[in-house]
Amino acid sequence: MSWEIKLRRGLYLPQIGWWLDASVPVDRSFVSHAHSDHIAAHREIICTASTARLMRQRLPGRRIEHLLPFGHTEQLTPDCAVTLHPAGHILGSAQVLLEHGVHGRLLYTGDFKPRSGLAAEPCAAPRADVLVMETTFGLPRYVFPPAEEVLADIVAFCRKTLEDRATPVLLGYNLGKSQELLQVVGRAGLPVMLPPPACAITRAYEELGLRFPSYQALQPERASGHVVIAPPGGGGDLLGRLAARRTAVVSGWAIDPATVYRHRCDAAFPLSDHADFNELLAFVAAVRPRRVFTVHGFAREFAQTLRRRGVEAWALGEDNQLELELTADPRT
Ligand SMILES: [Zn+2]
Repeated sequence: MSWEIKLRRGLYLPQIGWWLDASVPVDRSFVSHAHSDHIAAHREIICTASTARLMRQRLPGRRIEHLLPFGHTEQLTPDCAVTLHPAGHILGSAQVLLEHGVHGRLLYTGDFKPRSGLAAEPCAAPRADVLVMETTFGLPRYVFPPAEEVLADIVAFCRKTLEDRATPVLLGYNLGKSQELLQVVGRAGLPVMLPPPACAITRAYEELGLRFPSYQALQPERASGHVVIAPPGGGGDLLGRLAARRTAVVSGWAIDPATVYRHRCDAAFPLSDHADFNELLAFVAAVRPRRVFTVHGFAREFAQTLRRRGVEAWALGEDNQLELELTADPRT
């Protein structure tokens, strides 16, 4: 017997009756982390205490919360045990390991980042028979430069912009990226302003035990001499009131040269909270699964890469082009 996995709005495991990161309200779902595409108003959830805290802030309402500390195993059903392991993506983000008496060990990564960051727990790579992994950056061209280099470049961009008497604006999501950027820029001794939603999330991180350099709520008329960290496409009205500004998007997509133009910004820095291509491969090697299922991003392409390397791998919910590979005539 083996695990059955259905891709709907999120993943459904019919053999145990639980969802993984359902994006619409369901009866029972594991929630890997509190980003909005991974949460919904479920009746019952399993997650870390940090994810539950951040989720309450984004999605008010009542639900049954099973809070599991990392590495603590509990019985989920009579046949299946559950353990959460850190995913390194944002604070509290978890992978779920399900150990079933008949179907074996299934690891679902959720969004994950193997490199250690400044605002999340270090990512683990537990052994599993079946690995369900996100593959946002599953193409060989997505290999990020060393994080120290990218962080130094971000700080240099901010300093140069301030020297030129303009306001540097770093574009990164409110939950996760803003807190990492605050650590980087604040530790470099530069004063930071955040829009109110990012301030509220940063305060939640502080309540959860993280410490940050000081920061202020964004006031455009007093922003001169500060670094502003704001979400891409957000904070529009506030940002529009900054006198002179230079913007930089901070994202793994910065590897694509078009990113600067797409975001109409002055620079782009490839600091991501996801695994890059080489990290995806190394993760599979560490988990040593018998079978891999890929979701998100370049899922089909990465599954194909794994198959070529001798690992059984399939993109969930996609045409895997198996027939094409088997029948392709190399002479044509
Ligand atoms: Zn995420």
